[in-house]
Amino acid sequence: MSELALSKYRRLVVKVGSSLLVDDTGHLNRSWLQKLADDVADLATAGHEILVVSSGAVAIGSSVLGINKQRARLEDLQAAAAAGQVQLVHAYQECLGLHNIVAAQVLLTPDDTEDRRRFLNARRTLEKLLERSVVPVINENDTVATIEIRYGDNDRLAARIAQLVMADALILLSDVDGLYTADPGSSDAAEHIPVVTSINPETLAMAGETRSAVGTGGMATKVQAASIAMHAGCSTVIASGVIPNPLRALDDGARCTIFHASATPAAARKQWLAGVLEVRGELQLDDGAVKALRDGNSLLPVGVVAVSGNFRRGDVVSLKNVSGIDIGRGLAEYSEEEATRLAGLQSDQIEEALGYRGRAVMVHRDELVLFDND
Ligand code: GLU
Repeated sequence: MSELALSKYRRLVVKVGSSLLVDDTGHLNRSWLQKLADDVADLATAGHEILVVSSGAVAIGSSVLGINKQRARLEDLQAAAAAGQVQLVHAYQECLGLHNIVAAQVLLTPDDTEDRRRFLNARRTLEKLLERSVVPVINENDTVATIEIRYGDNDRLAARIAQLVMADALILLSDVDGLYTADPGSSDAAEHIPVVTSINPETLAMAGETRSAVGTGGMATKVQAASIAMHAGCSTVIASGVIPNPLRALDDGARCTIFHASATPAAARKQWLAGVLEVRGELQLDDGAVKALRDGNSLLPVGVVAVSGNFRRGDVVSLKNVSGIDIGRGLAEYSEEEATRLAGLQSDQIEEALGYRGRAVMVHRDELVLFDND
């Protein structure tokens, strides 16, 4: 086993590039996908949680609709994505289904991962799927994502997903087995780099503009993805998928580049929360709630004694104890107006107070940081 043995990662996001799944004529490589699904099943059986970010919708759909990708307009590609996505996800459903694993299609736009309100929604959905041992198969919602607002490449989308679900590893499978000092396609002197601990201008320069014929992202988007993931405490692996069972191969020591994250996802999230300058409001907590938070629990409405400020769901609020001392920060699950109505109520009174079912917590334990000051 290499240093990378996947067993040390609990939650993995695996990004599958189009060039692996789809051949030059736009046909899905079913036997490869089945082997990938076999690997996913092995990992799931060993207790890992896996999310797949898969490209391929545009490539498959272009062949189904007879669209020439090189000459197509954006709306043609969007139409292609709509037709291709059905086939793509159906293939995942069948291949994972052979292992009795349920696949779920999740289509996202950048808004869903960049806007904090929607970020929380997407996150809860993905968490629920993982709780039920479902494998989310994620792609960009190409049919509505226009040129100005789309990711355009799934490397960065996958990094955002890794950040969203606090994954500890992001695996970018494509037709390259890692980062080289120069483009290995055009330079014999190019040397493979097995480990990167920080991304600097030199790293970015090495990534250059290497591109593959079928996929969208090159090495540059992979390094950008690694940078996003590393800041979120998630290590990133660039590895070749041009072999059957690519995840098993990685586990057995196949060549790759690993970008090591220095913090854990939880520590990185807390560090980010602690540093947010834009605090939109305050929740004052009773002593019982402060203790519950220090014991690692979420903040429930019953522990909130006062609400102030002007915040919406997903905004950062300051958490105060009864003496008014700032003891931490958290992402509000409710707006200020709703939080005011819920303060002091038991969780089973939420529905009556709001007129809809609502969420049980005011601030989720994964979305808060406590200072060591009271
Ligand atoms: N969302 C695109 C597709 O499914 C792929 C983007 C990419 O290649 O990274 O075809």
